[in-house]
Order: sequence, then C-alpha cells, then structure tokens
Amino acid sequence: MASICVCARWRPATSKEDGEPLCISRSDSQSFTLEDDKDEKYMFSFDKVFYEDSEQADVYEFLARPIVRDALKAINGTIITYGQTGAGKTYTMEGANILETDSNKKGLLPRVVDELFEAIKLCGETSAYKIKLSMVEIYMERVRDLFDLSKDNIQIKEHKGHGILLCGVTEILISDGEEALKFLSSGIANRAVGETQMNMASSRSHCIYIFTVQKEVANEKSVGTGKLVLVDLAGSEKVEKTGAEGRVLEEAKTINKSLSALGNVINALTSSQQGKANHIPFRDSKLTRILQDALGGSSQTALLCCCSPCRGNFSESLSTLRFGARAKHIKASSRVGCKDEMYDKKQEIPLSENDVKLKLADLRERILKKLKEKLDAETTKLIGDEFLVDGLLCEEVSSSHEEGGIITSEAISLWKEATEKLVKTIVELRRGNHMLMEAYDLMKVEYEKMMDVTKRLQAKSRKPDHYSVWVFGFCILVSFYISGLTFASRLSC
Ligand code: ADP
Ligand code: MG
Repeated sequence: MASICVCARWRPATSKEDGEPLCISRSDSQSFTLEDDKDEKYMFSFDKVFYEDSEQADVYEFLARPIVRDALKAINGTIITYGQTGAGKTYTMEGANILETDSNKKGLLPRVVDELFEAIKLCGETSAYKIKLSMVEIYMERVRDLFDLSKDNIQIKEHKGHGILLCGVTEILISDGEEALKFLSSGIANRAVGETQMNMASSRSHCIYIFTVQKEVANEKSVGTGKLVLVDLAGSEKVEKTGAEGRVLEEAKTINKSLSALGNVINALTSSQQGKANHIPFRDSKLTRILQDALGGSSQTALLCCCSPCRGNFSESLSTLRFGARAKHIKASSRVGCKDEMYDKKQEIPLSENDVKLKLADLRERILKKLKEKLDAETTKLIGDEFLVDGLLCEEVSSSHEEGGIITSEAISLWKEATEKLVKTIVELRRGNHMLMEAYDLMKVEYEKMMDVTKRLQAKSRKPDHYSVWVFGFCILVSFYISGLTFASRLSC
C-alpha cells in the first residue's frame, strides 16, 4: 500500500524580505532543520525537499510526472499545494504566469498539459484519448464553476463506480495544449481574489483543476478514465496575521474552517486503530468532500508544503510542515477509473485498508443474507456475531464507496479464512442443533407420558367416592328423622 507522497518547497526570499534572518538550514535532499528566534531546532524529513534554488522542472519531475503518467493509464491522481499565503503555492501550480513561455518559470499545470498531449501524439492508432477540463473554486463554502460563473453552487455527489462527482460542472473537451492553456487562463481570471497584508493579490479560494483523461483502445469496446486533480489551496495563515477585516475576515475564517476540516480528516485517517474503521469527517467541508477520493484511498496523491524561508514566518512554516508530516502517515492507494468495465487487467492496484473493510463488510452482508435463506434468524445472528468477535469483518464502515478497485491477495486470503471459519461454525451449529433435536424428542416422549398420568389422576379425582355417598345419605336420613321428631312433638303440644 503506497502512502501519500509529501514534499516541502522553500521559495527564495523576496526583495521585501532581503536581509531578514532565515529559519531553515539544509541537511540533505530529504531533510532540513527549522530554527526559531530562541535557537530551538525542529528536524523534518519528507519524500523530497525543494530548496530555494530548485527548478520548476525538478518539482514536476518528482511530484507530478508519475501521477500524470498514471492518469494516462486510467489511474486517478491528485496533487495539492498547501501553505500560507505568499509561500509559493500558485507559483508552483501555474508558474509566474499560466501562459509563461520561459521554461524555467513554467508551473505544474502547463507541464501537465504538455505531457498529456505529448502522450496522445505518441499513442499511435491502437488507442485514442479524449481530454476534458473543468475548473472550480471553493469560495465561502460554495463550489463555483470557473468556466460558467452562473453555476455558483455546484453540488457534490458520490457515484458507485466513479467516486466523487461535481454535478453539472462544465467539462471542456480540449484538443491541444494551446487550447488548454487558453481555457486555464480564462478560468484563473475568474477566481475570487482579495487583498491581505501577506500578499497583495492572494487568492482567497481553493482552486481545483480537473483533467479527465479518457482512453479508448481499438478492438476493445470499453473506455478507461483517469482523473487528474490539481488543487491550489487558499492560504493557511492565521486570521490575526492577515490584518483582515469585514468580508475579508469572513473569507479568512471560512478558509481556516475548511483547512481545519482538512486537518481533522488527516488526523482521523492517521489515527484510526488497526482493524477498526473509524469515522472520517469528509462531509465537514466542501474541500474535504471533494478530496475524499484523494485522501480516502482511491487516488495517487502528492502534497507539496510550500514555505517562506524567513524567520518572521517561522510559526506558519512550522504549522505547514507539521501538517505535511502528519499527512505522510496516511496510507492511500489509487483506483483505476473504470467505465464500461474497462481497466488494465495487468495492473494490480492494492485497495486501502478502508476499501478492504468495505469489501469485507459487503461480503459479510451477502453471506449472512444467503444464510438467512437456509437457517433461522437466531442462528444467522450467532454466525454474524462470531464474525464480529473475531474481527474478521467490520460492522460499520465510514463511507459508502462501493465498486471500483481490484481486490488484493491479502483481502482474498482474509475472505478464504473467513469462509473456512464460517463453514466450521455451521458444522458445529448443525451438530449442536442435531443434539438439541434428539434431546427435544426425548423430552417430548417424557412429556407425553407425564400428561397421560396427569389425565388419569384428574379423571380419577372426578369419580364420586362410595363411602362419601353413604355418609351423605345417612346424614339426610338423620336430618329427616330429627325434623320428623320435632314436627311430632309440636303436634302433641
Ligand atoms: P501563494 O500562492 O502561496 O499565495 P505565490 O505563489 O503567489 O504564493 O507566491 C508569492 C510570490 O512569491 C510571488 O510573487 C511569486 O512569484 C514568488 N515566488 C513563489 N515561489 C517562488 C519560487 N520558487 N521562485 C521564485 N519566486 C517565487
Ligand atoms: Mg496563491
């Protein structure tokens, strides 16, 4: 099971920050030390660290290229930039400008476009690709379509096989790189921006770019779809630092709320106890709901923590890096996007722990349903409880993923083990049931015998006693005799 790829990027100090003391000292390409004013040191290690002299191309090669290549094989992928405002998220994502021609300054997005269309050119006649592009932003907890501003409250739904979907979002079919950049540029121009002391033109919304890559293979009727999602998050700085007031303050609060929700989801994902599917609060914000597939285990995911090197931004950098360090513990696995039963059968994509549990829970339900048809309700419940006690199958699952993904051999062996246990339990129950039936038959015979005796006794008790009849007759005669004597004496008087 692959974990999320987490990297850190330090931007160079800006002209305004010239001469300011720095808070970072390099160790190697994966670790560095962060130092505060009191010379307290914090060591961090990530999959890769991009220092201020790193090239845009380095970031793309390490972080994005593998995910883009997988999207071409119908494997979903997500790339997220996180950090305080002015830390270099948008510079990494778009470049100095989305239409930038200087290859040193080109960001991830134009490079993604280049790679996708390069692959299309090379794929030959055996397969054909279709690439669709959507762009949305989450602003004040509303999802806005950046290609059609009249769609300003897009609903998020979960589909059985396709995961999280944005209902009615504009999808533009793009035919070449130039066209893609033109649309990206118009979408970016539609983003909600505000001014803060941190960055004069900082984006106050989370921006999400979605590339849907559809692959049609000749002689195969089916289509494989890979979704590539790039997320440029709004700034993670504290509200006080931005000096924001009024509407801008409200924006900052909403941003902090959704980023806290993201933090909570990461905490829940990384602190779930082994074997237990705990509740992951994906529904607490639009951002976490949209990122559910990326974080919950059905997407290749990369997180880039962007930081400013200046001491003045130390606490923001520390919290950004702590967020990244925590995310590193999430276990995720990618899902092959299936449409019309299409997927590359050679690729074994392991399911996440949560997906395996969902599959097992589903299997449990199906087994118990079948058993219910053959056995009585109490026996079925007993078997179900036995499964739960053994921790083989979980009772509750946190989300409603269903289809998609390929079952790992680990899951299959778990199922086999569970089925063997089930068969054993059924045999034991049958044996117990047989013994109970025998005991019941014996008791039934005894009961009938007892009923017979009881009946006879009752019948006997109902028959009149000769002695009592004689006594009763004698008493009547005596009373007649006495009353005769009384009557005779009264007459003589
Ligand atoms: P954010 O999106 O995180 O708010 P930006 O990407 O807008 O921040 O970056 C803030 C400023 O820093 C911009 O002027 C940008 O050009 C510059 N910058 C950020 N990262 C780099 C970098 N790696 N190299 C050069 N300039 C950078
Ligand atoms: Mg930005």
